[in-house]
Amino acid sequence: MKDSYDRNINYLRISVTDLCNLRCRYCMPEDGVCKKEHDEMITEDEIICAVEAAASLGVTKLRITGGEPLIKRNIVSICRRAAAVEGIKEVCITTNGVLLPSLAGELRAAGVSRLNISLDTLDAEKYKYISRCGTLEGAVAGIRTALGAGFDRIKLNTVLIGGFNDDEIPALAELTRLYPLDVRFIELMPMYDSGDFGKEAYLPCSAVIDRLPELCPAETDGGVARLYRLPGAKGSIGLISPLSDHFCGSCNKIRLTSDGKLKPCLHAPAEYSLKGLDSEGMRSILQTAIMAKPLWHGELDAENRSRAGRNMNQIGG
Ligand code: SAM
Ligand code: SF4
Repeated sequence: MKDSYDRNINYLRISVTDLCNLRCRYCMPEDGVCKKEHDEMITEDEIICAVEAAASLGVTKLRITGGEPLIKRNIVSICRRAAAVEGIKEVCITTNGVLLPSLAGELRAAGVSRLNISLDTLDAEKYKYISRCGTLEGAVAGIRTALGAGFDRIKLNTVLIGGFNDDEIPALAELTRLYPLDVRFIELMPMYDSGDFGKEAYLPCSAVIDRLPELCPAETDGGVARLYRLPGAKGSIGLISPLSDHFCGSCNKIRLTSDGKLKPCLHAPAEYSLKGLDSEGMRSILQTAIMAKPLWHGELDAENRSRAGRNMNQIGG
């Protein structure tokens, strides 16, 4: 379905939980989040009903995210049922990878075609620092398992943080030469109360080009990243720049939070509840939310924080 600015909304991102087994400093507070009452959260049946309603309006692609989606007890079932909905062509997951060693095979068999795995550093101490409680070893084991499990293309998501991992841009990019992996560098977004990063942490993606003069422009894959490739590389390098060069004009997404709220825009406060609605009710609210999608997310930089009113784990990045 087209929104009021003629953008074709065909991509639904579904956050299945706001809980996580890590505590990344840019994403959620150290103490985690207060676990919500069960009846405040969207159920598996409601998620599938929302997917059916969205598919009937032209949504073809789903991304399952969180919080950490793989800690959700019924994640395989959600993916299997969502992938089977008529009109859905692609189900992808964004994960920190830690639980992939036990789940990758089942997720692939359930119809998940692609994985994005978050990896901000190749240094074990820095990984422990940024995630507050994870290990690099755990994330790498997840990536290795995923590579052997038959997913179409695996992307690594790296949040660019000035003074933390800008010195690792060449090493992270080198992974695309060594493995059939794509790397996506994402500008750090100033969310509600996630992290007290200074101005210098908000690096523009042009820092990647500055560090890698040998990058050659590559053809777009239809996503929001500007794509490049290192000579002889197996995978691409993508730059996602919501701050320095926003892509709102071609945004095709709508989001569903784990407490059942539709968010037409990641950084806008507007939310529309789907909780407790039947499929006609959900279809109608989806149409309302799509038509209410703003033209752009507004100023977003170190001084102008996101107006979402939630941290990233509570929306689904
Ligand atoms: N737990 C999963 C993971 O880490 O991949 C999925 C949820 S996480 C919220 C989704 C993506 O959002 C991750 O790649 C994460 O690095 C990114 N993210 C979280 N907070 C962010 C922020 N403030 N700015 C930019 N990206 C952020
Ligand atoms: Fe958890 Fe992902 Fe947020 Fe890290 S980025 S705290 S892994 S939800």
